[in-house]
Amino acid sequence: MTDETVRTPYARKIRYGVTGAPILPSQNPHTGDMAVRPSLVELVYSAARDGRTARVSASVTGLCMRDGKPVQPEGQVALHYKNGPDGWPAWLANEARLHAAAPPVTDPEPRVPLAEHTQQTLDELYDRVQEADAYYAEAQHVAQAMYRAWNEQRTALTEGATVAAGVHNTLLVLRIRLANSSRDWAQNSDDAWMYAVLYGWDCEQQHDHTPTCPKLLNEVATKHGWTPDRVERIRKHRAVFAKVGPNGETDAAARRAVDNEED
Ligand SMILES: [Zn+2]
Repeated sequence: MTDETVRTPYARKIRYGVTGAPILPSQNPHTGDMAVRPSLVELVYSAARDGRTARVSASVTGLCMRDGKPVQPEGQVALHYKNGPDGWPAWLANEARLHAAAPPVTDPEPRVPLAEHTQQTLDELYDRVQEADAYYAEAQHVAQAMYRAWNEQRTALTEGATVAAGVHNTLLVLRIRLANSSRDWAQNSDDAWMYAVLYGWDCEQQHDHTPTCPKLLNEVATKHGWTPDRVERIRKHRAVFAKVGPNGETDAAARRAVDNEED
């Protein structure tokens, strides 16, 4: 199933405790000379969006201080700093820069599973890789080589699989026609030869053959006076078809599947 959820990172928040930090002055004119001895720092890094640039805000919680002394009665207070870290107290600005990660990668495009890629989407993807790696010749060279090797293999596999499936289908149709024909394929030498190669006179099931298993090639050969060499060549031709299938085992497997359905 395709995950069509589009995720746009808005912000990243980090929250941690501190000890030994310097007293921070408030930047809010309404709180006057109030300051805080930080014990908890919360930083929010917001991504650029809706025309606003990336920015960071901070909340610093700690003991409320005035004139370098704890305010009585002692209480916790939170000071808020916005649009940093420029203009912030040096210690807090440094904290903000310390924890700032690389900007979140915004990828609003749904990811396409590899199996669902078409030649066109792969080409587009490749173009983007080329653009992204324009300044990294070595990486680009490697990416191109990998892409070509993989694409050639993928193309070859696809064409090969298509051909194989088509041949298999054609042979199956031929087998069904031979099996259901009213013609006596043993009567005429040419017919018997075609039947021998395309269908096989002997049992091809993967089991221990029983006396009821058809084993008619030698009999048909005798009937038409085929030489042992000719019979040997027929066996070789038939073995090739039997190996790639469909074959007697395919027919038996199909019958077994039907039998199981009827249970
Ligand atoms: Zn058999």
